[in-house]
Amino acid sequence: MRTDFPLLGQDSRGFPLVYLDNAATTQKPKVVIDAITEFYQKKNANVHRGAHEISIKATEIFEESRARVSEFINAERPQEIIFTRGTTESINLLANCLQNRLSEGDEILITLMEHHSNIVPWQMACERTGAKLMAVDVDDQGNLDWSDLTHKLTDKTKIFAFTHVSNALGTVNPAYEMVQLAKQFNVITVVDGAQAALHEPLNMRKLDCDFYAFSGHKVFAPTGVGVLYGKYDLLSEMPPWQGGGEMIESVSIANTTYQSPPYKFEAGTPAIAEVIGLGRAIEYINTLDRGQINQKEQALVKSVANRLSRMERVNLIGNPDNRQSVISFLVDGSHPHDVGQILDQQGVAVRSGHHCTMPLMARLKIPGTVRASFSLYSDDRDADRLVEAVEKATDLL
Ligand code: PMP
Repeated sequence: MRTDFPLLGQDSRGFPLVYLDNAATTQKPKVVIDAITEFYQKKNANVHRGAHEISIKATEIFEESRARVSEFINAERPQEIIFTRGTTESINLLANCLQNRLSEGDEILITLMEHHSNIVPWQMACERTGAKLMAVDVDDQGNLDWSDLTHKLTDKTKIFAFTHVSNALGTVNPAYEMVQLAKQFNVITVVDGAQAALHEPLNMRKLDCDFYAFSGHKVFAPTGVGVLYGKYDLLSEMPPWQGGGEMIESVSIANTTYQSPPYKFEAGTPAIAEVIGLGRAIEYINTLDRGQINQKEQALVKSVANRLSRMERVNLIGNPDNRQSVISFLVDGSHPHDVGQILDQQGVAVRSGHHCTMPLMARLKIPGTVRASFSLYSDDRDADRLVEAVEKATDLL
């Protein structure tokens, strides 16, 4: 699999690259890079303005991508798939389009392990509507505090927005159970799937959440494209967010009528090449035995976590019951950035900092962590090189 990803064969700082920053973005397989090049060389035209052959063809492959995404997450139908710029834009869209359901005294519930993308848009919606933002606690190991959830989910809650997998600790939340609980209070559920889409099998009909968001660039696709899945009836009821071309049915100076979903939410020329790249990335993923690869990846993450935890000055941050692809740690007496820098000097790419989860860092009383995040192509060599590089960092610091 690694040879499918040209960048992984590269050196960094004079060593063969060990890329363990997959939670930030994944590398791209050659088939995706080729699909984008081919689009610009042979198929480039604007979509949905079918005046000529290449525009009609571009529209066809663009809409095929929507069908691929719909199958990938087992949605009811492709019209439930809205293309956005990424998870952040998907959640901002919702925070705007759902605000007419909010008023003073209502509550929006999130968790303390959210990425800022799933906090700030809701805070802004609260400022506009007078609703209140509440957050479910997380325990010291990085698990969601279920008893706090059952206290905070009440008749006042109108929206429950939570991450499927934590980007900072790798915690896999029991998304199905969380959705089921929210349903008892008729609460709209929004799942941030940015870290889950590649690693967890996605099945919207089974999960039964109202909305699910993820980013193309974390599933081997280009940057600049993301997905918002929404139940069709809810999408139909929602007002549009941005106005412009494509999203309208008819416009006069006095009045505008809108298209049906998904087009109602796709104003302006979309990221055509990127959407096509996303479709190709999903086709690529479909050729993999994801179940088996995921199992291997989980075993790899577990063994690295064990090896790091045995090092005297290394503290793992969080030890969630169900963990996926992320290991966060600190070296006693050292700043995470210094550790990250020493790893970088050895060709090991990790990330250090708060990982856009400042409330979680505050809850755990730490400034940040060093985060190694794995993907389907990570292997034993990556694991060994990471462990050796951390050993060296502990010697040097
Ligand atoms: N949520 C989570 C859990 C994430 O990990 C990220 C990306 N780090 C985002 C949201 C935001 O994704 P994007 O920057 O692609 O919009």
